[in-house]
Amino acid sequence: MIYADNAATTKISDAAKQEALSCMENFWGNPSSLHTPGQKAAEKLFWARQTIAKAIGAEAREIYFTSGGSESDNWAIRAMALAGAKKGKRHIVSTAIEHHAVLHTLKRLEQEGFSITLVPVQQDGIVRTADVASAIREDTALVTVMTANNEIGAIQPIGEIGGICREKKIPLHTDAVQAVGHIPVNVNEMHVDLLSMSAHKFHGPRGVGVLYARRGLPLSNLIDGGAQERGKRAGTENLPAIAGMATALEEACRNMAENAQKEIALRDHLIEGLSEIPHSALNGDKENRLPGNVNFCFEGIEGESLLLLLDAKGIAASSGSACTSGSLDPSHVLLAIGRPHEVAHGSLRLTLSAENTMEDVEEIIGAVKEAVAYLRSMSPVWKALEKGEKEYVIQ
Ligand SMILES: *Cc1c(COP(=O)(O)O)cnc(C)c1O
Repeated sequence: MIYADNAATTKISDAAKQEALSCMENFWGNPSSLHTPGQKAAEKLFWARQTIAKAIGAEAREIYFTSGGSESDNWAIRAMALAGAKKGKRHIVSTAIEHHAVLHTLKRLEQEGFSITLVPVQQDGIVRTADVASAIREDTALVTVMTANNEIGAIQPIGEIGGICREKKIPLHTDAVQAVGHIPVNVNEMHVDLLSMSAHKFHGPRGVGVLYARRGLPLSNLIDGGAQERGKRAGTENLPAIAGMATALEEACRNMAENAQKEIALRDHLIEGLSEIPHSALNGDKENRLPGNVNFCFEGIEGESLLLLLDAKGIAASSGSACTSGSLDPSHVLLAIGRPHEVAHGSLRLTLSAENTMEDVEEIIGAVKEAVAYLRSMSPVWKALEKGEKEYVIQ
């Protein structure tokens, strides 16, 4: 099987797996206990907190362990909404291409009386800093913009947006789940106040992540109980997962430049190959995109059918985001970059890791070409396009 769905999840690295196993065997004490096994676990926990803090330019006390990206997004946004509301600020600025963990949290807040501005993105999938700036109001409590998009890989100008937010004294949250471990992320250079990450997107374990919150921010409690995570998120820590995450992140940062260089070569070759398919189009900016991300629209086919054909050929891909597959709605991200409904349905996301090879890419190109031709040969829409009864959307 060729695995090309690394934006959905990545395979845990050997080092991260070994670290998690070693914690289960040797660091099983409760970090809150005062005896030796407890203190050994507490030291391991502190090592993980420090390692992760260092990787993003933060301090250990600004790191809060969570169950993953979704929890971190929910917590950051709700906490800043609450803090804003206390000062009469009930407006939040975000973008049209956020992950559902952000968009659905905002939708809920809207039902609770907040007003939400979703800034549109350009055709390249990138939001313009000036558009974010002009969406900010007197009563804006939070700006939340993702670092890199999970569907089309478009990297957003977070540093610039952070500069604006700093000037206007508005907290900035970024969902950096797709970015951390893949491209350089530094909370100070990016001027971000809150940041979400998730271990399973950088070859760490599932069900563990981090919310970074700059010290001094009014971060409300998520779970009341014990004193874990500075009393803000109670519950005995999942040390094997947390230490596995720290190991995976340390490894990903150490190999970042080398992995990115390799993935970019694979990515660009794949883009070149798939561009040869008539009436196809790359989604998202060609340059400003995550090293492993390829996302295409093919006119006249259904993404889901393509996905299943590729699976039968031994290639694991995605027809958008894992969260939207299973529903018939086209991707909100593809609609946001201006793809019409019928074309947005015919999309394919291939997300590579440094473990993929050029041979994999050649095989993917061949398989996609074959599958697209086959699906088109059976598609009434495609026949109508060929006969000129309908106009091509993608030239
Ligand atoms: C995967 C992902 C999430 C959700 O992370 P989980 O750890 O699976 O909850 C949030 N945002 C983005 C951009 C993602 O890619």
